[in-house]
Amino acid sequence: MSAPYLSVRNLSVTFPTRTGTFHAIDDISFDLARGEILALVGESGSGKSMTSLSIMRLLPEAAEMSGRIEIDGRDISALGRRQIENVRGAKVGMIFQEPMTSLNPVLTIARQMTEGPVRHNGVSRRDALAAARTCLEDVGIAEPDRVLAQYPHQLSGGMRQRIMIAASLALRPGILIADEPTTALDVTVQSQVLDLLVDLKARLGSGILLITHDIGVVAETADRVAVMRGGRILETGTVDDVLGAPQHDYTKELLASHLTVEKGLKLRDAQFEGARP
Ligand code: ADP
Ligand code: MG
Repeated sequence: MSAPYLSVRNLSVTFPTRTGTFHAIDDISFDLARGEILALVGESGSGKSMTSLSIMRLLPEAAEMSGRIEIDGRDISALGRRQIENVRGAKVGMIFQEPMTSLNPVLTIARQMTEGPVRHNGVSRRDALAAARTCLEDVGIAEPDRVLAQYPHQLSGGMRQRIMIAASLALRPGILIADEPTTALDVTVQSQVLDLLVDLKARLGSGILLITHDIGVVAETADRVAVMRGGRILETGTVDDVLGAPQHDYTKELLASHLTVEKGLKLRDAQFEGARP
């Protein structure tokens, strides 16, 4: 594994409230190298999205951030607006839970994937289209031209998420932040998208920060995991170590409830099998 591409040190995010300071993130540190998947797992409200927004410098206006975030050897907290825009996309790609909200419903996929490069980078429409086609092929879309001609509503949820991943990879960022990328998808599509992330890690050497509330997703996909609760990292380590021998009661609870669900599904399947003639 290479040196960390992303290094987060003593990150805190607070919001001023009438009754005092609210700590959305309370002094967390972690590293992410290229070619590995680090999962941040925790219940809703534990500070996962605030962590990803800090890295992208997209926190709400009222938030106050402290600590140090280095991307590819550069401290990003000191960067101005213009410089941070160069980090987004080029160094760090980001995909969100609901791909529909990030796609413009009235533009074809071709239009939305070429608009930026044509308008802002002086790329010809023809070259931009060729690049878009390559990106779609990168994420396993077999007929890119058919997809490019379509509007978002004509595509399935899984296909839309594939397109968002393709678009986030356009500038070949070293790492990808995926904030609950499969939460809005059904189970079979969910595992296809997770397989794609594992494949991108191996094929493009991307580092992936995978944010999820689902410990099953962690087990299936990640190399390392950090368990978050109440804005803190409770424990961190390889997936084998943390899931195999959890140190913290909260991690044990997460695992136990996941296993209960798994067992229920297996029981149901077994009964279903048994009920067959
Ligand atoms: P997660 O992604 O793990 O569900 P978030 O990172 O979105 O959690 O939120 C962490 C905490 O910050 C939550 O308690 C949430 O209510 C709080 N929070 C989020 N946005 C704001 C905001 N604009 N002002 C104040 N508190 C916020
Ligand atoms: Mg969130």
